[in-house]
Amino acid sequence: MIIENKYSSFKTPKVYLLGYTTIDIDALIEYLEDTDQMEFSDEIDTALNKGLDLGEILCSFYAKACYASLTNKKNKNITKTRGIYDNIVGILDSGHGSVIEHCQVNFMVTDCSRVFTHELVRHRAGTAFSQTSGRYVRTDKLNVVIDPILEPAYDLVEEARIYLEEWYKRMEERLKIDQVKDFNTKKKLTSAMRRMLPNGQSNEIGVSFNLRSLRHIIENRTSKHAEWEIRYVFNQIYKIMKKKYKAMFFDAKEEEVEGLLEITFKNKKV
Ligand SMILES: Cc1cc2nc3c(=O)[nH]c(=O)nc-3n(C[C@H](O)[C@H](O)[C@H](O)COP(=O)(O)OP(=O)(O)OC[C@H]3O[C@@H](n4cnc5c(N)ncnc54)[C@H](O)[C@@H]3O)c2cc1C
Repeated sequence: MIIENKYSSFKTPKVYLLGYTTIDIDALIEYLEDTDQMEFSDEIDTALNKGLDLGEILCSFYAKACYASLTNKKNKNITKTRGIYDNIVGILDSGHGSVIEHCQVNFMVTDCSRVFTHELVRHRAGTAFSQTSGRYVRTDKLNVVIDPILEPAYDLVEEARIYLEEWYKRMEERLKIDQVKDFNTKKKLTSAMRRMLPNGQSNEIGVSFNLRSLRHIIENRTSKHAEWEIRYVFNQIYKIMKKKYKAMFFDAKEEEVEGLLEITFKNKKV
């Protein structure tokens, strides 16, 4: 969905994938050598050739370690082992979700509203957040994130935004905040003034997920029942994830609803 408007203060959220779990290959090889399981390195090569990510390979490694099935010679109960892609499919089909918690991803979301961040931080399991502090950071320009459904009344939204931006400047002058020397007092004034700023004010948030929690949240937050902005952000996150992790999102079903994807997973119990 492309969101265009003539107001430079109306912002659109953007997602950056900053970090992700990877493998120290030398350490893994040392482990495989020490434990006489070097055959697994051929599986790693095959998986990499298929375009799998090291984070996925790590999850499969841990799952296979549970059953001593990195090779077929460590567990007398088995005569053959699955490749890494098939192993991940098996993990998702069987609901062995804890092993996909080993892979973490780290995002930065810019130009998102405090409506969005308030909804996002309700996800407690397998997440970490670092958000712009409304107590430390003074509002200079009041930027906002506005649902395109308000397009027929954008001029009225802009009117309210300008009023609040000017009001904030008047408050700064009345309270003489720039002349305050003590940082603690500045912080208290900044925090007190933010109470009148709108939920739609744009800010940024760093968020990390493990892949198990992320699958759950993508399904929740791309739902047609979710709010526009969180759907918009999780559409971006889903597309980045689907491209990076070929196996972990194999069971995703995509349906377009109101210009954005709604994602459901075949395997619900992960
Ligand atoms: C469409 C939509 C509408 C919503 N409307 C409202 C609303 O009107 N008002 C409102 O307050 N909230 C609302 N929410 C937020 C919702 O209630 C949840 O707080 C939010 O989606 C977090 O999801 P979660 O509970 O699955 O948490 P997560 O932290 O993502 O947890 C993931 C899973 O872990 C398990 N889990 C996590 N913590 C616990 C625990 N303490 N005990 C047992 N199991 C646990 C559960 O299986 C849970 O589903 C809405 C969410 C959506 C998607």
